[in-house]
Amino acid sequence: MKRVLITGAAGFLGSHLCEKFLSEGYYVIGMDNFLTGSEDNISHLFGNKNFEFVHHDVTKYVHVSGELDYILHFASPASPIDYLEMPIQTLKVGSLAPYNLLGLARVKGSRFIIASTSEVYGDPSVHPQPESYWGNVNPIGPRGVYDEAKRFQEAITMGYHTFHGVNTGMVRIFNTYGPRMRLNDGRALPAFMSQALRGEDITVFGDGSQTRSFCYVDDLVDGIFKLTMSDEHQPVNIGNPQEITIKEFAEEIVTLTNSGSKVIYQDLPKDDPKQRRPDITRAKEILNWTPKVDRSEGLKRTLEYFETKVDTPTTV
Ligand code: NAD
Ligand code: UDP
Repeated sequence: MKRVLITGAAGFLGSHLCEKFLSEGYYVIGMDNFLTGSEDNISHLFGNKNFEFVHHDVTKYVHVSGELDYILHFASPASPIDYLEMPIQTLKVGSLAPYNLLGLARVKGSRFIIASTSEVYGDPSVHPQPESYWGNVNPIGPRGVYDEAKRFQEAITMGYHTFHGVNTGMVRIFNTYGPRMRLNDGRALPAFMSQALRGEDITVFGDGSQTRSFCYVDDLVDGIFKLTMSDEHQPVNIGNPQEITIKEFAEEIVTLTNSGSKVIYQDLPKDDPKQRRPDITRAKEILNWTPKVDRSEGLKRTLEYFETKVDTPTTV
């Protein structure tokens, strides 16, 4: 049985990845320190004989006994609110952690995959964004702690590949949504859906004309699995190219939830990217991957989860 280590296992994406690898017949070691994740996301896996959980901060030396075929490094604060509140942890988990884990991959002979991000493109001047675009990042702006940590993570990963021959891969993840997002993590979808279900005002930042392209979690996980099984070393964008303005996205959620909430406008955070859409040509060609779940279906599935988590006001 092949063995995989997944860091950030108790988070949104990490927990879905654990499930995917278990369902594909792998032995999964999930590692997390619950910085932004929760035991609730993985407690259903604790009885599985092919799953073990290790409570550990991956910025510290990482030890795993036995063979390891794959290491997926997904630990990191991921929402703007989280990484603004935890800038140093964010920098460390993007730098010290891949350093520790690449050393482990080198010793064990594992294929090593990092969770990179569309944020490496910053506020992009090329649209849609292909992997060949080098980005437009403000290193000392508020988002710099995340963006530059992820850019360093790519650099150290490529360094270990080039100089030590470690088998590495990088996925540049574009905005992904689905069940197990933390209600209060401040990202657009959890914010809008919780606000709509509670009947509160929907807080759109700026005039809402900025765009994002939202990918359903099952599609993303499918792409990551394919990348892990491939021998691709260059970065690959995984995301859904269906682009939408944030204002329209808020309105879509109000309609879906049948909410009486009204959209209000608040200040746009500094350096908030104006437009974002993945060019997924490489993912199609190299991995034979395209997203399957369109936004209306993905939002319905996500709403079912949020309805179980949000205390909705009782209607009289
Ligand atoms: P998340 O906050 O739900 O999960 C991150 C997990 O990492 C949490 O469980 C947290 O406790 C854990 N963690 C953080 N620091 C740690 C440390 N030092 N040691 C051990 N565990 C630690 O976030 P997510 O949305 O699941 O994101 C997962 C990864 O994917 C991140 O690396 C993020 O940058 C990347 N990513 C996500 C998206 C997205 O749309 N969700 C987009 C681009 C990139
Ligand atoms: N956003 C918003 N209201 C919110 C949260 C986010 O208008 O309550 C906007 C945010 O300014 C950005 C977009 O929605 O333009 C996506 O934000 P998110 O934090 O989900 O992801 P990211 O900015 O990292 O792409």
